[in-house]
Amino acid sequence: MIRRLLLVSNRLPFTVQERRGELHIEPSVGGLATGLSSWHKSFPCIWIGWPGITQKKMKREKDIMARLLSENCHPVSISQQDVEAYYNGICNRTIWPLFHYFPLHVEYGEGYWQAYERINTAFANVVAGIARPDDTIWIHDYHLMLLPRLLRERLPKATIGFFLHIPFPAFEMFRLLPWRKQVLEGLLGADLIGFHTYDYAGHFLDSVHRLLGCDVGMGQLRVGDRLIKADAFPMGINYEQFSSAAEEPKTKAEKTRIRNKLGDCRVILSVDRLDYTKGIPERLEAFSLFLSRNPKFKQKVVFILLAVPSRTRVDHYIQLKRDLDGLVGDINGRHGTIGWMPIWYLYRSLPFRSLTALYSLADVALITPLRDGMNLVAKEYVATRADGKGVLILSETAGAAQELGEAIIINANNTEETVRALEQALVMSEKEQMERNRVMQERLRRYSVQRWAEEFTDRLFHTKNLQRQMAEKALTGETERQLVKAFHSSDKALLLVDYDGTLVSFSPKPEQAKPGASLMSLLRELAAHSRTELVIISGRDKDTLERWFGRLNAGLVAEHGVWIKERGRGWETIETLTSDWKEEIRPMLESWVDRTPGSFIEEKGFSLVWHYRRAEPKLGELRARELINNLSHSVANLNLQVLEGSKVVEVKNAGINKGRAALRWLSGQEWDFVLAVGDDTTDEDTFKALPSTAWSVRIGGGASAARFSLDYPREVVSLLAKLARGI
Ligand code: UDP
Repeated sequence: MIRRLLLVSNRLPFTVQERRGELHIEPSVGGLATGLSSWHKSFPCIWIGWPGITQKKMKREKDIMARLLSENCHPVSISQQDVEAYYNGICNRTIWPLFHYFPLHVEYGEGYWQAYERINTAFANVVAGIARPDDTIWIHDYHLMLLPRLLRERLPKATIGFFLHIPFPAFEMFRLLPWRKQVLEGLLGADLIGFHTYDYAGHFLDSVHRLLGCDVGMGQLRVGDRLIKADAFPMGINYEQFSSAAEEPKTKAEKTRIRNKLGDCRVILSVDRLDYTKGIPERLEAFSLFLSRNPKFKQKVVFILLAVPSRTRVDHYIQLKRDLDGLVGDINGRHGTIGWMPIWYLYRSLPFRSLTALYSLADVALITPLRDGMNLVAKEYVATRADGKGVLILSETAGAAQELGEAIIINANNTEETVRALEQALVMSEKEQMERNRVMQERLRRYSVQRWAEEFTDRLFHTKNLQRQMAEKALTGETERQLVKAFHSSDKALLLVDYDGTLVSFSPKPEQAKPGASLMSLLRELAAHSRTELVIISGRDKDTLERWFGRLNAGLVAEHGVWIKERGRGWETIETLTSDWKEEIRPMLESWVDRTPGSFIEEKGFSLVWHYRRAEPKLGELRARELINNLSHSVANLNLQVLEGSKVVEVKNAGINKGRAALRWLSGQEWDFVLAVGDDTTDEDTFKALPSTAWSVRIGGGASAARFSLDYPREVVSLLAKLARGI
């Protein structure tokens, strides 16, 4: 449950504006604040953001600050210089074009980046100054991607969610950013990272995997001991507000007023901020071609183009405005007649009433962004048409297209397709219009902006709960003390310990992970103890184990249970095993090595192993899945099994596993203390073979039959050292 919410976004829901030398505060139009208005008033909520004027002006008028605070808004001050480098610079000249797949519009500058760090730090200072331990912090959008980490450093236990309102681009695009790692690390300070679509969430996880090397699965990953989730939450609209708008007297009056000016012309409408991502010139070209191809529509149709001024100080926007003015003039000049102007071009922002009046009289909404995180206008148009009429044409590169599949979906770069969509829309029967719209309306009504916010925050708490459960499983403090005490008071103790990933971290080459002198001396100390039996249960080949541990007074298990060596005895296999199958399997593994650079084959006495730790991670995993699929056909007839370890696929005789090997010790004698430690799926067999009283510890996260968890091999070593110390 939310006790108090801190909403953090670049802009506050109020804008401070200067008119005739005086400062006034006004509610910001559109955006998050309007959408969330009813939801975030149901509990205490503080908004933190930039009020839209520079530091100097804020200082001049102290009462503005007091008024903002009385509205629960905490302003973050930004100097004029930083507004340029941060807002007009890195945000709108670097991140915005790159994340919308316009790499040629991107400007990179170290000065921009420094401003980004500075402003994110300024936000962190304000938020950290206000935050209480049980607050929920929800950070919004691309202006503040470093903030989650900056806050995590100051408030390690805080509940932090982040939502990105623009697309997260594919890795090939994202990697162009010089500060790509810092951005990812910044975002990973959050507990939950939300995106509008699964594609964007997938792109983000892919970049985290490739650039930071974190293992990601099922939309989650771990950084240190913290679990983090990334998921899709398509943002909705305030459905009731739009669906009831058309029936309100003021909207009706506005609609009549516009209709009188239009005569009986059919209306095509588009509404966007004037932004190069919105595909406005492409759309106009398509409309012009439509008129040339369909002269019967001349004087019968009007295209109302509402372009809202945006980022008017950034060069590409200035140029786009010029191009658009020219294009509109050109098309109107070419197709227009006295008394009929094909394009009505409005370069301004309209209030809610006028906007919904336009929505409710438009026969067609032509919404064709080249790239758009979501696009709320498309949703608002469908919601406003309570009469069920109207046709939405929407490009597939708008996030909204994933929810509005009943619209006419087009590729905005395909002029022919856009023209055909206009032709189809203008002759579509009312019955079909209504059928399509009803389905979309039902979906939009259910998944409103309120529901979006609830789902996001519920999921954030769910992630926090998972973190807590993981923390409870962690072998720390009191539990660890109990384990150590139980060991020291035991008369007969058994220690079953895996090697790679448990006693030492993984190395790119298996032979590099040799035990160091201090680990050897610790193992010697434990093995020498008369009341303790130490067994190293490994997947490694027996020659390596013999070389490293042969002189220890310890039991050894090699190749996941193929070979067993009890204290003071020689190596033996548990049954008659064959290895003639190797010649059949080897060619398949060799072809996988050829197709997967960096991978290699390891041959052990009774098994073959394909290693892919050094391969490109994504490719390695894909090939591993393919290999397992292919092997499953071959192994059944040969009485073999396929084991998946940490970045390895191993083929060996069936019926052999670490659990079965462990039984040799577990069933032979009475133990009053048993501890098993391991890190991957092959160790799960050991955990499952243990009596319920045994202590079991899995290294790293994930579901496990083990009772406890630790994060790193160094923690296992420190635990074993505590056991050895009291001996
Ligand atoms: N909008 C408005 N007045 C206008 C034109 C648009 O208030 O004259 C609002 C519109 O209702 C929508 C928002 O601006 O909620 C635009 O959001 P969208 O997701 O479509 O595009 P963005 O501007 O976020 O890229």
